[in-house]
Amino acid sequence: MEFQFDLIVVGAGSGGLAAAKRAASYGAKVAIIEVNQVGGTCVIRGCVPKKLMVYAAKSKKNMTSSEGYGLKSEGISFESNILLKNVREEVTRLSNLHKTSLDKFNVRVFEGLGRFISQNELEIICPKTKKIINKISSKKILISVGGKPKKLNIPGIDLAWTSDDIFELDSFPESILIVGGGYIACEFASIFRNLGTEVIQLIRGQRLLNSFDEDLSSCLEESTTFAGINLISKNQLKSIERVNGNLESTLDSGNKILTNNILIATGREPNLLPLNLGFLNLKMDGQYLDVDELNQTSNANIFAIGDIINKPNLTPVAIEQGRVFADNFFNDQKRKVNYENIPKAVFTIPEISTVGLSEKRAKEIYSENNIKIFKCKFTPMSNTFKENKSKCMLKIVVNQLTDKVLGCHMFGETSSEIIQMVSISLNAGITKKDFDITMALHPTISEEFVTMYS
Ligand code: NDP
Repeated sequence: MEFQFDLIVVGAGSGGLAAAKRAASYGAKVAIIEVNQVGGTCVIRGCVPKKLMVYAAKSKKNMTSSEGYGLKSEGISFESNILLKNVREEVTRLSNLHKTSLDKFNVRVFEGLGRFISQNELEIICPKTKKIINKISSKKILISVGGKPKKLNIPGIDLAWTSDDIFELDSFPESILIVGGGYIACEFASIFRNLGTEVIQLIRGQRLLNSFDEDLSSCLEESTTFAGINLISKNQLKSIERVNGNLESTLDSGNKILTNNILIATGREPNLLPLNLGFLNLKMDGQYLDVDELNQTSNANIFAIGDIINKPNLTPVAIEQGRVFADNFFNDQKRKVNYENIPKAVFTIPEISTVGLSEKRAKEIYSENNIKIFKCKFTPMSNTFKENKSKCMLKIVVNQLTDKVLGCHMFGETSSEIIQMVSISLNAGITKKDFDITMALHPTISEEFVTMYS
C-alpha cells in the first residue's frame, strides 16, 4: 500500500514537534496534526506561561520586601490584566515560531482533531463544524497528544477552574481555593499569593509534594505559611455551589469555604479519548498507552511519547523521547532514553529542585545503615535586610559503601539552575569526595554543596 507520509505525528506539543523535526531532518516526509495552537501544554498552557507568571510574582515580592536595602515600596501595584495579556501575546509569538520552524523542515501541518480510522490512516475533523476536512495516511504514526487536567467527580465541579482556565483569565481573583498539593497546586498558590490574591490550599493528605524528599516538603510548608497561604490538610472537597457570585466549597469535615474561584489541581490524565483508538486494541498500562523501550505500542506501526505513557511527564523527557524515536526509526541509530537522574523543579517562591533519590527511597533501596545524609539549612545572604528571613536548605544523600552521591535536593532561590548542573555530576557517577575536593565559589548558596562535612 502507498502511503502519503512516512510519519504522521498526532499532537504538536514539545515531544511531537521534536520528533517531527528530527524525522524530517533525516529526509522523512512528515505531517503533524494539531487541534489547538501549535506548542502543546508546555508552551501554550503550562511551563512557559506559568514561569512568566512566576517572574511577575518574584518581581513583586522583591519590590515589596526590600525596604531594608533602601528601596521604597509605596505605590507599587499589580495589574493582572497587563500580565495576562502579555503572557498570551508571548505564547502566540512562540507558537508562531514553532510553526515557522516546521515550515523550514517541510513538515506539513494539518489543523484539526486527528481520529484513527485504520492503523495507518487518520481523518481530520474541524473542531468547530465537526466535519471531516481531510484524510491522511502514513507508514508510521506517533501519538503525542499529551494530557489534560483530571476533574474530581463531585457536585458542582464544572464551576471550578483547572490550570488551563488560568491562562484564559482577564484578571486574577481576589480569593481562591486551590485543591491539591502537587506541582500545579503549589506553583499557582505561590503565584497568586505573591501577587496579592487570598489563597486557601486544600490537601487530602498530611504534606505538600508527597513524591519529593520530606525535607523539601517541610521547607515549602514553612514558606507557604509564612507567605500567608492558608493550608488545610487531611480534608477533601465534597461539593461546590454558586452563592451570590462566589463559590462555596463544602469539605468532608462539613466546613464551608467561600472564595471568588476554585482551582482544581489534582493531577492530569492522558488525552486519548478523541483519538478513537478502541478498535486498534492497543495494550494499556493503567491509564497510559503501553510502550516498549523504543516507544513502540503493541501495534508495530504506532508509537507513543510524552504524557500519554507511564514515564515522568516532563517537557525535556517528551522531547528526548521524540528525538530518540526519530533517531531510531528514521536514522537507524540504536539509542534509548536515559531516565536516570532526571532533574525536577517546582517553581514556588522560593523554588524546589531535586535530582536522584530522596532520603526515604535511598534507605528503602540500600538499607538505612548504608545511607548517610548531609544537610544544611540557613538564611541566605539575600534575606539579610529583609523582614522575611526564610531559610534555604541543601541536602545530599550518599551511599556510605561506595561514597556515591544518590540524590541532591535544594529549597531556595535559583535552586533549579543549580540542580540542573548538579544533575550532570550525578549522571557521571560523582562521589561525595568529588564534592569535597571541589573549590567553593564564595559567597553563594550553592557553595554549601561542596562544604558540607559530617
Ligand atoms: P501531581 O501529581 O503533581 O499532584 C496531584 C495532587 O492532587 C497531589 O497533591 C494529590 O494528593 C492530589 N490529589 C489527587 N487526587 C486527588 C483527589 N481525588 N482528591 C484530592 N486530592 C487529590 O499533579 P499536578 O496536577 O500538580 O501536575 C501534573 C503533572 O504535571 C505533574 O506530575 C508533573 O509531571 C507535571 N508538571 C510539572 C511541572 C514542573 O515541572 N515544574 C509543573 C506543573 C506540572 P496526594 O499527594 O495525596 O496523592
